[in-house]
Amino acid sequence: MLANYHTHTIRCKHAAGSEREYIEAAIKKGYKILGFSDHVPQPYPEGFVSGIRMDMSELEDYTSTLVSLREEYKDKIQILIGYEVEYSHRFFDRLMDELRKFPLDYMILGQHFAPNEVDGFYVGAPTNDEDKLKAYVDLAIEGMETGLFTYLCHPDLMNYTGDEDKYLKHMRRIVEASIELDFPLEVNVYGFIDGRHYPSDRFFKMASEMGAKFVIGCDAHDPRVLINPEDVPEFNEFLKRNKIEYGDNIVDIIRP
Ligand SMILES: [Zn+2]
Ligand SMILES: [Zn+2]
Repeated sequence: MLANYHTHTIRCKHAAGSEREYIEAAIKKGYKILGFSDHVPQPYPEGFVSGIRMDMSELEDYTSTLVSLREEYKDKIQILIGYEVEYSHRFFDRLMDELRKFPLDYMILGQHFAPNEVDGFYVGAPTNDEDKLKAYVDLAIEGMETGLFTYLCHPDLMNYTGDEDKYLKHMRRIVEASIELDFPLEVNVYGFIDGRHYPSDRFFKMASEMGAKFVIGCDAHDPRVLINPEDVPEFNEFLKRNKIEYGDNIVDIIRP
């Protein structure tokens, strides 16, 4: 594949490697496009500090670092400046006002919390609460409908452990929305390599049968996770059995 749009940096407090190391690794893999999409900082209330994202004050350094690397490497690879963003009612408008003050090529939607990190729950924690499943699906679809995002990260991060029919009934609404909006769904490499509950056969089998469009996202928290699917036989096998095609893995960027 020629592109990856899901790359973190050390600023999110749970990733390793400098920007340059990610870029060098991507060039070695033959990528033509590398999108940085670190966990977006959030305008949270005074005193609430997230352990998984940069602070608002780091926007300037994040973007200026990438602008100079983009220039330095422009003959070898195209660098894009973006974020993995949570959609929320409470913070999203204020967040966009801040992000637009700096260079911004694209955003991918990564819905880790509902209704948000301050007031809500982490969707990756196991639960059999159907209300939580519904809350996640509703919020993810609302985020997709803003028209500001390029694709949906790990759509099956929601870790619903209850009845399988209920899971599929709600999750298929994400797939329906993605088809209607022509919005790619990400198959997450990091989750697979790390042995997490996503990407899951139960979700991707359904999405594939329904005709969804897919993108491979490394979700690199370490330069070593910038891979080609052929390099990881088990991942390749996952894609095959779920009939996931990704071509060169280049998607149309939505400029927010
Ligand atoms: Zn992360
Ligand atoms: Zn990520």
